[in-house]
Amino acid sequence: MGIAPQGHDIIIDFDCQFEVRLRDSRLSSILAAFAELLAQLLTDFIQKVLIGFGEHAMALKKKPFACNHCGNDEEFTWKTRHGKPTKIHAFYRWVELQQLQVLCKRCGSKMYITRKMLGMEPRKRIAATVYRKLGLLGSLTTYRVAEKIGGMFGWAVDKMTIWRGVQKTASEIDFKLDGHELPHGEADGTGIGIKGIAKRGKELKVFVQYKKGGGVRVAGLDIGNYNGAWDKLFKNSLEVFKGFRRRFLLVTDGDTSILDALKDKVKVIVQRCLWHIPYQAKYVLWQDGVKHKSEEWLYVVSELMEICAIRPLVDCKDTIKKMIESKKKRLEEVMGHCRQKGYNHTLSYLENARPDMFTSIEKRLAGKTISKVERVMRTVNMRANVSKWSEAGALNVIKIRLAYYYNGFDA
Ligand SMILES: [Zn+2]
Repeated sequence: MGIAPQGHDIIIDFDCQFEVRLRDSRLSSILAAFAELLAQLLTDFIQKVLIGFGEHAMALKKKPFACNHCGNDEEFTWKTRHGKPTKIHAFYRWVELQQLQVLCKRCGSKMYITRKMLGMEPRKRIAATVYRKLGLLGSLTTYRVAEKIGGMFGWAVDKMTIWRGVQKTASEIDFKLDGHELPHGEADGTGIGIKGIAKRGKELKVFVQYKKGGGVRVAGLDIGNYNGAWDKLFKNSLEVFKGFRRRFLLVTDGDTSILDALKDKVKVIVQRCLWHIPYQAKYVLWQDGVKHKSEEWLYVVSELMEICAIRPLVDCKDTIKKMIESKKKRLEEVMGHCRQKGYNHTLSYLENARPDMFTSIEKRLAGKTISKVERVMRTVNMRANVSKWSEAGALNVIKIRLAYYYNGFDA
């Protein structure tokens, strides 16, 4: 084995000896033997490269590492090149390496340099580059399938390790608005089919931002109760909201508590036909001379509030149909009342609004895509709908998956 520095690179060449048993020369047998060889080779390869670079480093005046104790980065001697074994994950499988250890000539303390050389944190077993790969993998397909496909390539990575990679990777991903993209987005909490979670009254809430070049990016993600709990979705973005020159336009079909999460904090324009109707109605009622909070006023406003409150996560088509029917009937009654009482501004306002009031929910019923969030939700469902999840487990998988598909995350 020799080391030859080549500019910034060093070239390590080594011979290796290995032994594999084969019963016959069929391709399948050769590939199976190769998979076995790969395992032996990997540990050996890493060990030899480390020693090669270790030797190279030790020959330098200023070392690429410093003594943990005194900060010395020049005077060291080898303690051992084959010290205490340590286990690390080398993406293809776990490997056991013999640690490289040096002695500080200045203060006399001993120090392992294996992880320093690998660019890994002290005592950690999985490097960031590895757990991010595993994390991405686990978010793209099921843990079982990931393990299976890996196995077909001679990999030996178990489901648990992939799962851990997902949790770790997700903990590093945080979504927020991008001040350089458009002040325009959608927030919704609909259409998620996470097994085992819907039943407990939770929904996935997604906040997407429109991009200048078309398409969307994810700016917020959370799993929370049907009503409320939107705060986390916008928490990271409050400052960015304020930084836009134009006021942010938020399109949403979700429940009104989306706005509670933002009011008093940032000013956004919300575009939602259903939501603004009862509020707009207050204005037209005033035009019609109906006294604020009178019996008449309360009747119209409260009826409209009820009519316009759409439960976002009703997934039964027949229920939705019935709901719309009943809401339409109630709306006719309110309009009849306005006609009778001569509330003409209110009546004409409602007549104008009526055709569009239930379109979004009706479209959803017909299976048409109505929003960009809906598209995002489908990306989520392809992964989320195939396992039983804990809340955090689901959120973490979805985080990585969406970061990959929409925000340029890669591993
Ligand atoms: Zn020292």
